[in-house]
Amino acid sequence: MEVFYNSTRSRENNGKLSGVTASQAILKGLSDDGGLFVPDHIPALDKSLRELSKMEYKQVAYEVMKLYLTDFTEEELKTCIERAYDEKFDTDVIAPLVEAEGAYYLELFHGATIAFKDMALSILPHLMITSAKKNQIKNEIVILTATSGDTGKAALAGFAGVEGTRIIVFYPKNGVSPIQEKQMVTQKGANTLVVGIHGNFDDAQTGVKKIFSDKELAKEMDAKGFQFSSANSINIGRLVPQICYYVYAYAKLLAEGKIADGDQINVVVPTGNFGNILAAFYAKNMGLPIKKLICASNDNKVLYDFFRTGTYDRNREFMLTSSPSMDILISSNLERLIYRIAGNDPEKNAELMAALGGQGKYEITDEMKKGLDDFYGNYASEAETAAEIKRLYESCGYVIDTHTAVASAVYQKYGKETGDTAKTVIASTASPFKFTRSVMNAIDAKYDAMGDFELVDELSRLANVKVPNAIEEIRTAPVLHDKQCDVDKMQDTVKEFLGM
Ligand SMILES: *Cc1c(COP(=O)(O)O)cnc(C)c1O
Repeated sequence: MEVFYNSTRSRENNGKLSGVTASQAILKGLSDDGGLFVPDHIPALDKSLRELSKMEYKQVAYEVMKLYLTDFTEEELKTCIERAYDEKFDTDVIAPLVEAEGAYYLELFHGATIAFKDMALSILPHLMITSAKKNQIKNEIVILTATSGDTGKAALAGFAGVEGTRIIVFYPKNGVSPIQEKQMVTQKGANTLVVGIHGNFDDAQTGVKKIFSDKELAKEMDAKGFQFSSANSINIGRLVPQICYYVYAYAKLLAEGKIADGDQINVVVPTGNFGNILAAFYAKNMGLPIKKLICASNDNKVLYDFFRTGTYDRNREFMLTSSPSMDILISSNLERLIYRIAGNDPEKNAELMAALGGQGKYEITDEMKKGLDDFYGNYASEAETAAEIKRLYESCGYVIDTHTAVASAVYQKYGKETGDTAKTVIASTASPFKFTRSVMNAIDAKYDAMGDFELVDELSRLANVKVPNAIEEIRTAPVLHDKQCDVDKMQDTVKEFLGM
């Protein structure tokens, strides 16, 4: 059955009552009314988990994605999957499942930038150019991104060298870590541009939004054969590929005899924008036997409070933590869950989102709260996160990154609170090599005296894991981007790069 995509905020799409196709939703990113695209129904898996357990990652990805991207042909989708999950990943398995202390860590960090965003950003460019072709779009697609560090590099790595696309990344010149900056400014590919702006992340974000919504510029661009699109995590072209690895993980456990047919598992996800855990929720609704979706937050525990009280309140101090990719007070993808537990009611959802925009908070109804039964929320403080890295390393030699440690610590709390012993998959979202200093300091404070690359070698020795290519490369890679600009010159910089 074909799946169409509706906005979470109104019953209309471009003046029509029916939804848009998957390829149109991917091209647009966000609906015109500011809502997020959601599938009009969640398709059920049409292969048994036993059958899926005999497949490799790419085949499982096809079996899941074909159910959502119903206007893609088999050949189109398989080509996108082949191009995405290739030797950019340092293991054929793509997403290995590592057992430690009886839990299963699903390592989603074996792609080009050693964080889980590669799982979706390595396929998004291919889904996007295929979507452009299907919709007879002749323009080159220009991806504009503002980044506080991680998304920028993952998007650059995904779009670099992809024909028919260009990518421009703006980052705060003095607002990212030295390793993050080095990763971005060494990016190869004639279709890439990396620019440090004289301002903070909010300035970069606001500047990009302004360029996106400039109607005059859009016309000028169209005349020159360009149009903008977004690689933001609200794009369904990022959400759908994330569903695949939950199905894959379950199938693997089945294949290895760790679980029996029909057994329920728990899934723990270190959460920021709520995209990764929403993908697990979709997997559950497709028929994957998931018991609890365990949502792990760091000190920015707005989601923990929401699951506990039913009130989402962003009015609080923003905390900088050692798990920066989860330092978020507005979890954009939560809107898709809110819409669903409101009974797919766009008016109710729009009302709550307006309250969030205005007062910075909203409260859901008692009826809606029942829809949250699938979830368990908790959080780990900075001290608890560091202690979990040390504890797990000392107990079994396995070294996890700070984000994964938040999830692991929350899983410990969940186990103590509930006594639940169901098999559990913990989403491991970054390589410890991406956050070497925090990880090593957690294991022993003495490491603080060492230099960045010295620490990398020490971690490699300690964990008995080879230094990932992504880190090896930046040791010696030449700087290829040194452009900087003032915030009010961002649009000129874009035009110059496009030869306008
Ligand atoms: C982005 C990110 C997260 C948070 O994922 P969401 O989908 O935004 O909830 C967690 N860990 C790492 C390492 C990330 O890069």
